[in-house]
Amino acid sequence: MAGSASPLDADVAVVGGGAAGLCAAWFAARAGSRVLLLEKNPQPGLKILISGGGRCNLTTTKSGRELEEEYGRRRGRWLRHALRAFPPAALRAFVQDAGVPLQEEDLDKVFPVSGRARDVLDALLRRLVEVGVTVQTEAAVRGVERTGGGFALRGERRSWTAARLVLCTGGLSYPKTGATGDGYALCATLGHQRVATVPALAPLRVGAPWVHELAGMTLPDVGLTLRDAEGVVVRRRRRPVLFTHKGLSGPGPMDLAGDVEERAQPCLLELDFCPDMRAEELDGSLVAAGRTTGRRSPASCLPATVPERLRQVLARELGITESVAALTREHRRRLVGAVKGTELRVEASLGFAAAEVTRGGIPLDEVDPRTMESRCTPGLFVCGELLDIDGPIGGFNFQAAFATGRLAGISAGAPDAHRDAGVS
Ligand SMILES: Cc1cc2nc3c(=O)[nH]c(=O)nc-3n(C[C@H](O)[C@H](O)[C@H](O)COP(=O)(O)OP(=O)(O)OC[C@H]3O[C@@H](n4cnc5c(N)ncnc54)[C@H](O)[C@@H]3O)c2cc1C
Repeated sequence: MAGSASPLDADVAVVGGGAAGLCAAWFAARAGSRVLLLEKNPQPGLKILISGGGRCNLTTTKSGRELEEEYGRRRGRWLRHALRAFPPAALRAFVQDAGVPLQEEDLDKVFPVSGRARDVLDALLRRLVEVGVTVQTEAAVRGVERTGGGFALRGERRSWTAARLVLCTGGLSYPKTGATGDGYALCATLGHQRVATVPALAPLRVGAPWVHELAGMTLPDVGLTLRDAEGVVVRRRRRPVLFTHKGLSGPGPMDLAGDVEERAQPCLLELDFCPDMRAEELDGSLVAAGRTTGRRSPASCLPATVPERLRQVLARELGITESVAALTREHRRRLVGAVKGTELRVEASLGFAAAEVTRGGIPLDEVDPRTMESRCTPGLFVCGELLDIDGPIGGFNFQAAFATGRLAGISAGAPDAHRDAGVS
């Protein structure tokens, strides 16, 4: 195989130079294969460069079951092999060994110490040079065909052949980075279906004008409960929230975008601005404030964790004008309700243009989780965001892309040994 006088351009062709492809190419070459990485952009790894606000939240400090659960029960179980074989600690070692020191930050996130995503990408590209991967940029793959010797790939100006093929062209989110869903059509040619794709990790569009009025305000700790049209709880989170001119952004709302988009009907989002305080305690504190500081406005008596502007807007929306001493029982109940559970109707997110990931993709039951090999076409390996996998904000999407990329690379790079790539 490797190094033999082969009429093919490569033993392994990796299509897509994102996190999954860069990792797959390295592991395939390290396993002894001649690897060709084809990337349609002028440079690979654009999403790595813009990730985490240009700082690249590479992975998470979570591990084991806790890590798996972040992808949901079914998808987390499917990912188990990849995640256990290449957990966050191994990914961190892989990047640190390439000369990029990492550090842990809030919300279990891991970033480069330098704060520069560019350092991560440059290190990964250096690693590819070390193992002799051939990288071709501006090489968009437009078609694929199974041949006797492997695969024939058709580009715009030329074509390529390879014994084995790794497809990792990403999803549909942030199309300006090159993720325009090409992989779904390539996979379909090779016998795969597609689980319906929707934007995920995107800001939520909210119509209420008072939300827009607070644009720019960030709350570090908000309880979020998303309910479907029937009132059934879809997901609960406790994370930062950012008010914007179009609605709500930040980790809390963005984590819920995929759930909103999956539903054909509008959802109801409940915000708890004081998640550490029970409603009865808050109610009691307003009663006590009425006795001791009677002339103050009720808004000014709310806990300090609720910013001044938000308090005023909530009180105004409820039409509360009286002092805290004169607060009617009904107005007190409504004010407590607004702080502990403001309800907002949410119909959609800002869509794929603003979504960090795509939910849906190549069905997991069509891919072997131990090797990433297609169950439809032997010799084809599928990994990264192209698969029906997505995680919340916090480094989980890169973690899944790198871990599945590694398994695909090992399996495609040393096909006879690939049963040992994962865990049994
Ligand atoms: C703004 C933003 C910020 C993010 N921040 C984080 C973060 O901090 N942490 C985190 O974990 N995740 C983050 N993500 C998500 C993360 O970037 C993705 O989940 C991850 O990049 C997926 O990797 P991938 O290799 O599967 O796909 P991609 O990174 O999308 O790579 C796919 C590659 O394939 C190429 N390609 C597509 N079609 C073709 C074709 N026909 N021929 C050749 N090449 C092709 C594309 O140009 C692209 O380079 C962020 C995403 C965005 C958009």
